[in-house]
Amino acid sequence: MTQNVLILPGDGIGKEIVAEAVKVLDVLKADFGLDITITNGNIGGAAYDADGHPYPPATQALAKEADAILLGAVGGYQYDDLPRELRPERGLLGIRADLELFSNLRPAILNKELADASSLKPEVVAGLDIMIVRELTGGIYFGEPRGIRILENGEKQGYNTLIYKESEIERIAHSAFKIAMKRDKRLCSVGKSNVLEVMELWDEVVERVGKQYPEVELSHMYVDNAAMQLVKEPKQFDVMVTGNMFGDILSDAAAMLTGSIGMLPSASLDANGKGMYEPIHGSAPDIEGKNIANPLATIMSLSMMLRYSLNQETLARKIDDAVERVLKEGKRTADIYVEGQAGTTLVSTSEMGDAVVSALKS
Ligand code: NAD
Repeated sequence: MTQNVLILPGDGIGKEIVAEAVKVLDVLKADFGLDITITNGNIGGAAYDADGHPYPPATQALAKEADAILLGAVGGYQYDDLPRELRPERGLLGIRADLELFSNLRPAILNKELADASSLKPEVVAGLDIMIVRELTGGIYFGEPRGIRILENGEKQGYNTLIYKESEIERIAHSAFKIAMKRDKRLCSVGKSNVLEVMELWDEVVERVGKQYPEVELSHMYVDNAAMQLVKEPKQFDVMVTGNMFGDILSDAAAMLTGSIGMLPSASLDANGKGMYEPIHGSAPDIEGKNIANPLATIMSLSMMLRYSLNQETLARKIDDAVERVLKEGKRTADIYVEGQAGTTLVSTSEMGDAVVSALKS
């Protein structure tokens, strides 16, 4: 059955990196029999410019019809003065909530060709393979009440609410345990139950769900310690599960273990495996339009899409192999290029995309 893939390039480098991933998708369609239709839509600042809203009704309709979505990135300085609800980031939060994409998978795998690009010693990170499962549609980013109020003495006070229901914790716990079952069967739940009641409930529910996965070794860690352990001894982890805000921060720290934020894909899934796939980085306005952004995180997001939503494991592997081959050949975009390293060549965004396409075809 023909599946429907929606492409949402977004803003900044989003357009550049998604264009490279689409080249790869086109080859899979033309040469490898991938049966999909591709539709295009707007999100973020681009959608605000076109339709006056970062997640307009037209995009909502396309998103509902899609089997999987590939998104570039959103955001830009020119939107900083817009009311909060019209800012590009609201588009992203909106689509995640609308499609109930509650489970965010962020792998941090260190390709051995890039061990030198990490800021940690190669022996600490070589062979790293962590999966961070982040709850994506709840927690403090969505909790009510929220706002900035004026106190009786005239001082302003900002407030947000860190809130989780049992059912929300249960579904993310199931998602994480299922992933752990497919890997090394070790799950570390990251919280802060020593000071936050909501994380006390988190621990209790994760323990309860864990009884259904007796083969998985479950541990708990406070988020401050988890941050330290991630940079001290990251290979101790297999799968980590945590809430929205802690996961946001920890996965960016994990990103740097791998050398570049431009190398990390992600998947956000609903309960039925429909997913949105995107690199973890933002729209990088500082390098927009220069043809120097790394498109590999986006291309690897495509590989996750084939694996988790389109049921095309063989084609997903083909992409992974092509990326590995290109790195082995020494091709490097600026973010992963180490001056003077033998056998490497600096390439542009489009040259990197072309290299993956020719590795796929050869
Ligand atoms: P960013 O991730 O866009 O950039 C951080 C740094 O990493 C920059 O120096 C950038 O040049 C570099 N970088 C990012 N992606 C790269 C790539 N593919 N290749 C090479 N270098 C890369 O984060 P930021 O600068 O804090 O945010 C910029 C904008 O993006 C803001 O508007 C922010 O709100 C938005 N943002 C969006 C997302 C998203 O769409 N998922 C995530 C984070 C930030």
